[in-house]
Amino acid sequence: MKRNRENNKDALEKNFKLMSISAIILLVLLGYIFFSNGQQVEGKSYYIGIIFLVVLLFIAYLGRFLRKKLIKKVPFSKFAKQMQDLTENKEDNQNSENMKELENIQAVESEIKFCDIAGISGAKDELLELVDFLNNPKKYTKFGVSLPKGVLLVGPPGVGKTLIARAVAGEASVPFFYQSGASFVHIYVGMGAKRVKELFLKARLSAPSIIFIDEIDAIGKERGVKANDEREATLNELLTQMDGFEGSSGVMVIAATNKIEMLDSALLRAGRFDRRVFIDLPNRFDREEILKLYLKKHKYDFDFEKLVSQSAGFNSAALATLINEALLNMIKRNAKIISSEDIETAKQKIEFGKREKMIFSKEQKELIAIYQASKACYTKKPLKLFDYSKDADIEYLSKTKLLSVLKGYLSGGVGISLLMGEEYAINSNDFKKAFELAKKLQREYNISISYREILPKLQKELTKELEKKLDVIKKYKEILLKNEELKEGDL
Ligand code: ADP
Repeated sequence: MKRNRENNKDALEKNFKLMSISAIILLVLLGYIFFSNGQQVEGKSYYIGIIFLVVLLFIAYLGRFLRKKLIKKVPFSKFAKQMQDLTENKEDNQNSENMKELENIQAVESEIKFCDIAGISGAKDELLELVDFLNNPKKYTKFGVSLPKGVLLVGPPGVGKTLIARAVAGEASVPFFYQSGASFVHIYVGMGAKRVKELFLKARLSAPSIIFIDEIDAIGKERGVKANDEREATLNELLTQMDGFEGSSGVMVIAATNKIEMLDSALLRAGRFDRRVFIDLPNRFDREEILKLYLKKHKYDFDFEKLVSQSAGFNSAALATLINEALLNMIKRNAKIISSEDIETAKQKIEFGKREKMIFSKEQKELIAIYQASKACYTKKPLKLFDYSKDADIEYLSKTKLLSVLKGYLSGGVGISLLMGEEYAINSNDFKKAFELAKKLQREYNISISYREILPKLQKELTKELEKKLDVIKKYKEILLKNEELKEGDL
């Protein structure tokens, strides 16, 4: 708005100048005509001309004198005003959008220290080295060593990747710029790239600083698989920015992902994220440390060792939540000591609330141990009891159990044939599941069955078994028709 007023002022000034210069030139010309023609100038028109020019000159000077008031009073035509508002709004909107974007990129002072992180000692050691670099850069730069530009933290969710990055910033007392990969992915092409540029600019201005990009796979996915202009533009900008600054600039980029295999290889090349730190789900020792950390300020009376071994498969965040839930329960009971009952209630909440967090039973653990031990015996390579690199199965089932699962899927159809005397097209879903499972057992788990032959074979077996139990089927059918459900007591 202010700029437009300035423009109007300039235009008026120019017009007044033009008016006065033309009036002066014309007056000079008229004067010359009078002077050269002496008494021979006849007719009124010359005198009218002179008066007109003098008036014009007067108006020009008056206008110039009053220009400030005129700018405020001269109304725009409605259309001109609408046009002006439109462009102004557009500009303002765009500017405020950009400002908002920029405002979103703010550094935070991290209060987290390494003592707030339990376990994961390998990752801590690696990152402590970087903290030392940030605190004493001269110690390294005098030997020509520069700060690694990018550190990639690789590991499943909830193992402390963000926490450790914040601890690096906290220990080195440097600003921490947090951005999630998804926040770069905009609908409009170019917005993500712009944001990356701004992020690096801000970080450089407040160097030494740390940029943390969580879930970098959202922008760093392998290019070309499924073309996405916006993501590619953002990724290219990130690569350009990372190439564009020196290790000595004091900006360190830490990124986190749990899908390193999906990342574009350009990101992993030397000079970009060339440091990689793997953080696994906490092992027994880590879990012990983490639980101790969260129990540090509290009294408890439960079997600590049992909880440590039972919590295999939990991530660190879930352990923190477990203790938090137990504390909540303790408060509810008006008690001051965490009891085993509080832990059990908390475990129930976590186990049932979040299916992905699994707890292995004693038998399951024994199975895994035999499996892994046999592998180690043959390959002579070290391995862990729990291999979390790939999705672990929730339950490991024997062939007998799996065949009975298959029979479960087929039993409905077999019962119908027996009682109705012919086949019906009913519940295709169960059959589909049976078919898929049988295929998977043969192809993925190499269980000695032929998926084409197993289903008819199981159907025959089922027919023989259920033939003897027709009365039970009929009884259950009656209860279902009456109560619409079969309870445990009915079976
Ligand atoms: P990620 O970034 O790997 O998904 P976070 O760093 O966000 O995981 O962890 C979530 C929360 O879990 C943390 O805020 C903290 O409370 C807890 N946590 C995770 N790892 C640890 C750890 N090693 N020690 C203590 N607490 C942890």
